[in-house]
Amino acid sequence: MHSLTKTALSFNGIGRRCVALNRFSEARIICRGLTCAAEHGEHENELYDVIISGGGMVGTAMACSLGLDPNLEGKKILLLEAGNKKVMDKVPDAYGTRVSSISPGSATLLSGVGAWDHIMNMRCKPYQKMQVWDACSDALITFDKENLQDELAYIVENNIIVAALTKQLENLSDQVRVQYKSKVVKYIWPKSHQVADAIPWVQVTLANGQTLQTKLLIGADGPNSMVRREAGIPTVKWNYDQSAVVAVLHLSEPTENNVAWQRFLPTGPIAMLPLSDTESSLVWSTSHRHAEELLQLDEESFVDSINTAFWSNENHSELVETAGSLFRTALSVLMPSAGSARQLPPSVAGIGPKSRVMFPLGMGHASEYIRHRVALIGDAAHRVHPLAGQGANLGFGDVACLTQLLSQAAFNGKDLGAMQHLLEYETVRQRHNLPMMAAIDLMKRLYSTNAAPMVVLRTFGLQATNTLPAMKAQIMAFASK
Ligand SMILES: Cc1cc2nc3c(=O)[nH]c(=O)nc-3n(C[C@H](O)[C@H](O)[C@H](O)COP(=O)(O)OP(=O)(O)OC[C@H]3O[C@@H](n4cnc5c(N)ncnc54)[C@H](O)[C@@H]3O)c2cc1C
Repeated sequence: MHSLTKTALSFNGIGRRCVALNRFSEARIICRGLTCAAEHGEHENELYDVIISGGGMVGTAMACSLGLDPNLEGKKILLLEAGNKKVMDKVPDAYGTRVSSISPGSATLLSGVGAWDHIMNMRCKPYQKMQVWDACSDALITFDKENLQDELAYIVENNIIVAALTKQLENLSDQVRVQYKSKVVKYIWPKSHQVADAIPWVQVTLANGQTLQTKLLIGADGPNSMVRREAGIPTVKWNYDQSAVVAVLHLSEPTENNVAWQRFLPTGPIAMLPLSDTESSLVWSTSHRHAEELLQLDEESFVDSINTAFWSNENHSELVETAGSLFRTALSVLMPSAGSARQLPPSVAGIGPKSRVMFPLGMGHASEYIRHRVALIGDAAHRVHPLAGQGANLGFGDVACLTQLLSQAAFNGKDLGAMQHLLEYETVRQRHNLPMMAAIDLMKRLYSTNAAPMVVLRTFGLQATNTLPAMKAQIMAFASK
């Protein structure tokens, strides 16, 4: 249907005739909507310009971004979230378990929607360096401020991001309506061709029976997106044979703690992300069974497992070490000043109470981000392994791109749900997201083995990349968008 719609709209004349016919239907629907509103209550069958389904980090940022755009002033925008409103009157003493590494590009987006200052005032940890290394060899790569002008990225608790955006939405209550505890249970899609009595808009039904209509539905309802499923959008997806164990870590001694650490074990990557001078956040991706075992361990054994995972050389082999050391020597002859010294990660002394949780990991990509009057953003469109800390960042990139195109469409007096600018959104974002997703998936596969030939190859690759500042700068520039 999607390709049919695209083809249909590429015939301009037909497209325009449909728009003209739709105008009659629009008038009919508005009348119908008004009657229903009177019969069934204030918001029954109300017609919106944009409905965002899903108020996670990405959907809430989308609502703020649209609500602040001057070209969209006067448009009726609604955010629907199945869960409760997430307010934070006071920052809790204990760190939240779920955190995200926020790229400078996402910080710019959050700043543009007026949430970044709230975040900085609540709690946020910038870091200047990242060290990634292989548990099967001595190969490492570092990314640091020398490759960038500013902070490398920021670690922020997910709850704080949502709370800051929610607070900003309160300031935008004239522009954006928000309904919490409002789970969507059904969508009825408009027909792309004219059918007698067909509704030209997307119809949304909530669990409480309320129905609404919208000219554009933005699906921000996460990796199991109902919008994506019900719209019949084909999705490439698979579950990784891994779960991520997350926890708040107490460090054995205070440090400047401005480095993000990640070590690739054959069972999956383990990362320690800075939260404060004395605390860090753990993201340990490993087999489901090992993850379950880690959750069952008493605190002392769990802490021992973390320290061993960061420090032990049990996966080293003589063959790989010899090959790696010869290659390193050759590189240092060719490029004496290149490369970077190994730093040692802090050791862990304890964990935050009840902070240990696990999440199954998977990869998913909607082969189409749009349909007639529908656009997917965030995890609804793409889900990635957390090893590169990119999931939410890709979603914030979608928000920036879609806002810009909708703003332009509104400025030009165009229908917000029209395929023309939605197609541009899809093209621009897939061009960015797909290479990133492919790189993340490749990394996951490359490091999921301790077979010597593969370890030698990736050791050479990592060591060589580490001596090429221009290449590292390019990687960082790509990841920081
Ligand atoms: C262990 C781990 C570590 C990660 N670390 C990072 C990181 O460092 N950096 C990074 O950028 N990303 C990271 N990610 C990825 C990031 O968490 C996700 O990409 C991000 O949370 C996706 O946000 P979202 O708003 O698209 O989806 P979700 O967070 O899934 O939000 C979807 C929302 O939609 C609502 N919803 C669902 N269905 C309905 C419905 N029918 N009606 C109404 N509402 C509905 C839900 O209640 C929810 O609030 C990590 C992920 C994991 C698992």
